[in-house]
Amino acid sequence: MEINSEQAMLNFGQDLAKKLTPPVVIELIGDVGAGKTTLVRGLAKGFGIKEPITSPSFTISKSYVLPSGGYLIHYDFYRLDDPGIMLDDLTENLKNPQNIIVIEWGKSIAKILPQNHQKIQIDYTDTGRKVTL
Ligand code: ADP
Ligand code: MG
Repeated sequence: MEINSEQAMLNFGQDLAKKLTPPVVIELIGDVGAGKTTLVRGLAKGFGIKEPITSPSFTISKSYVLPSGGYLIHYDFYRLDDPGIMLDDLTENLKNPQNIIVIEWGKSIAKILPQNHQKIQIDYTDTGRKVTL
């Protein structure tokens, strides 16, 4: 679907969150600046998180308490060929069925994700973005 503004991306995430029940594992696929983190901001709002969501590019992961229990955990493995101890962190977090886990640049950890995890692809278009579930 066509999503052509930051606000529309936030709204899309918020609406999508309402259709999801934990456990949720989402892999976000798209180039730098595509809007992956923006989508996570929308999802977080939809899941009732009030804290501001900022990119975990430098910390690799950020966690936010979910009002429903568990955590929204946002990973960004950008340029991390070896996820190191973050692999154990992710493995542990995948075990909690209350968690919502959203991953940017997940190539290096793809093998430990559940086979049925959701993938959302964001592509640049002339007018904005195309989002494919
Ligand atoms: P990523 O995490 O994929 O690198 P960001 O979410 O940080 O990307 O978004 C980068 C920029 O793109 C932000 O300035 C954001 O406002 C803008 N943006 C996000 N979604 C859209 C969209 N659907 N259309 C146009 N701009 C968008
Ligand atoms: Mg990002």
